[in-house]
Amino acid sequence: MTDAYGVVSRPVRLDYTFTAGKALSRFLTIIEGGKIIGQRCPKCAKVYVPARGSCPTCGVATAEAVEVKDRGIVTTFCIVNIPFPGMAVKPPFAAASVLLDGADIAIFHLLQEVPVENVRMGLRVEAVWKPASEMEMSMESIAYFKPTGEPDAPYDSYKDLL
Ligand SMILES: [Zn+2]
Repeated sequence: MTDAYGVVSRPVRLDYTFTAGKALSRFLTIIEGGKIIGQRCPKCAKVYVPARGSCPTCGVATAEAVEVKDRGIVTTFCIVNIPFPGMAVKPPFAAASVLLDGADIAIFHLLQEVPVENVRMGLRVEAVWKPASEMEMSMESIAYFKPTGEPDAPYDSYKDLL
């Protein structure tokens, strides 16, 4: 079927299997239990979450497991205003880079329980975990992040980790 411009729209599906590797497999196994684990670089001491098994800066293997907190700082964010197919949350909503306490790289996740106009850099947030019966080996074990009510983190405390 073509639209008014003569463009054909057809559903497309692609199934594939992803092999996580040792470091990411460990992360995924542990997050199912409600904990977040990263790895520290033996050279620069940065903690990567989730770990991929090596430090992209130093080019050395990472092995030391480090548990990080399930709370942290919004370092950057975007407000989603436009709906798209398959969307789980009604717009407008915020998605943010969250620098977990103890980590040196941010993860990207959904923010909820905060009006989008109140989302800002430095906002302290914490994970809202799904019930144990819904936990899975994915970042989806965390339903979303919400504000902790703590004072905002000063910019200088995360400016080098954006
Ligand atoms: Zn390093």
